Amino acid sequence: MKKIAIIGGGITGLSAAYATQRAIDEGQDIDYVLLEKDSRLGGKIYTKRTSDGFIAEGGPDSFVSTKPWIFELAKKLNCEGRIIPSNDGLKKTYILVGNKLRTLPDGVMMVVPTKIMPFITTNLFSWPGKLRMVMDYFIPKKKEAGDETLSSFVARRLGKECLHRLADPLVAGVYSSDPETMSLQATFPILLDMEQKYGSLLKGTITSMRSRAKARRESPSGPKRTLHMSFKGGMQDLIDELVETLDKDKILVGADVQKVDEVRDEDGSTTYRVHLADGKIVEADAVIFASLAHETASLVTDIDKDLVNILQEIPQISAATVSLAYRKSDVGHDFKGFGFLIPLGEGYKIKGCTWSSTKWSGRVPNDDYAIIRVFVGGARKQELTFLPDDEMKAVVKSEIKNIMGIDAEPVNTWIFRWPNSMPQYTLGHLDCVNKIDERVATHPGMFLAGASYRGVGIPDCINSGTRAAESALAYLTEAVDTAKV
Ligand SMILES: Cc1cc2nc3c(=O)[nH]c(=O)nc-3n(C[C@H](O)[C@H](O)[C@H](O)COP(=O)(O)OP(=O)(O)OC[C@H]3O[C@@H](n4cnc5c(N)ncnc54)[C@H](O)[C@@H]3O)c2cc1C
Repeated sequence: MKKIAIIGGGITGLSAAYATQRAIDEGQDIDYVLLEKDSRLGGKIYTKRTSDGFIAEGGPDSFVSTKPWIFELAKKLNCEGRIIPSNDGLKKTYILVGNKLRTLPDGVMMVVPTKIMPFITTNLFSWPGKLRMVMDYFIPKKKEAGDETLSSFVARRLGKECLHRLADPLVAGVYSSDPETMSLQATFPILLDMEQKYGSLLKGTITSMRSRAKARRESPSGPKRTLHMSFKGGMQDLIDELVETLDKDKILVGADVQKVDEVRDEDGSTTYRVHLADGKIVEADAVIFASLAHETASLVTDIDKDLVNILQEIPQISAATVSLAYRKSDVGHDFKGFGFLIPLGEGYKIKGCTWSSTKWSGRVPNDDYAIIRVFVGGARKQELTFLPDDEMKAVVKSEIKNIMGIDAEPVNTWIFRWPNSMPQYTLGHLDCVNKIDERVATHPGMFLAGASYRGVGIPDCINSGTRAAESALAYLTEAVDTAKV
């Protein structure tokens, strides 16, 4: 029986395993094994749930609802009912400018203000800054379409103030990236498309909002969707549900893959030998690398040096999240809002903070408590990820005190570090991914999937893992058919 080895038990690898398992359940004669080096599955998706009722997210705390794949997966897993909207009645985001929390004006889509009154009255931008943003309407589009950094694009169309106060914290923040190097084509191609199609971001955003509103009016009403959504018990719910459906005998945790060899047989067929740290070897007819690009690079050194070099071109950065739980009566803060972001240059070490128990229901035992989540590290402050616990707590506490006036001791603190684990889509990223595809295509039965390539968000990873499994299944089925002929 043909076998697929899946390397990596994050959401990408688990999605690949799930798609394969379903094919088996539907009668396909295929075997698979999922190899995860850690003692737990889920990769970056990790929710800490305490016995006294706190829920702290170590990695992602939500997903964007504009892409279908997580909903499709949840439907198949029969856990759609666990998806929760954010509490948008209290939706207010602040940006820290000049040591003051300023409200992000209502109607900002990515970097574009779409509502006139909130834009006119906001104190987030100066009057010259606002006028410069409106100039977008008149600035001609760039003649040649193509990749550009976020920084160059926003400065060119909307001005430097918009870049520093909005695009940097809000847009680059999604990728924990540096706007000076971040590829727009690989991250927010819609902005480049709008410029080319409408000649202006303001025009493009308003037009696409109108057509989305029309589509919403015309489509049948479903469960309430907010832009960001999560799960009742935290993002780990999705992992738990996925793992539950998989055949436990095919999932190996603590299975650290050291390298993979490709064996070309005399009859022209290709097989793979997956070497584990304990000396065991897994033989497979197809391999899905659901590990990050630099991790995959270290595994294929004996197969393809060119592939290794291109994979290594995708940089990784480090970041940490620190969750702090407070007794509300100790702090004197109302936590009315979703939190704040801090542009570079405001003189702070932390990057921002989500007021998690306001944004999501069920994150604290009861209304007497609040939980907030602080971001540390990212492309321009990676070294802070590695501060010892005491220093990390001290930095976070002191900056939260400055910004929110909270001096109280948290009743609980959790620190989660993600070293070298956030892929960066820098200028030219998609060319790099195309080159990777070309190299991979020369290795029959090899498939690469996950956050390093065409989307870091969880829905993209689910799609990527599922597609890789479908391609592997199709490849093996064809191989079987050919052998039969
Ligand atoms: C702090 C943080 C916040 C985030 N917030 C969000 C968010 O709010 N929304 C969102 O959509 N996304 C968010 N992301 C991004 C998202 O979480 C990730 O892109 C996604 O979870 C990556 O999934 P993956 O399976 O591709 O990779 P991973 O989760 O990294 O999984 C890869 C797995 O491969 C395993 N592995 C690697 N090498 C080997 C080997 N040699 N042998 C065996 N196993 C191996 C690793 O141990 C790991 O478990 C966030 C990420 C971080 C770090």
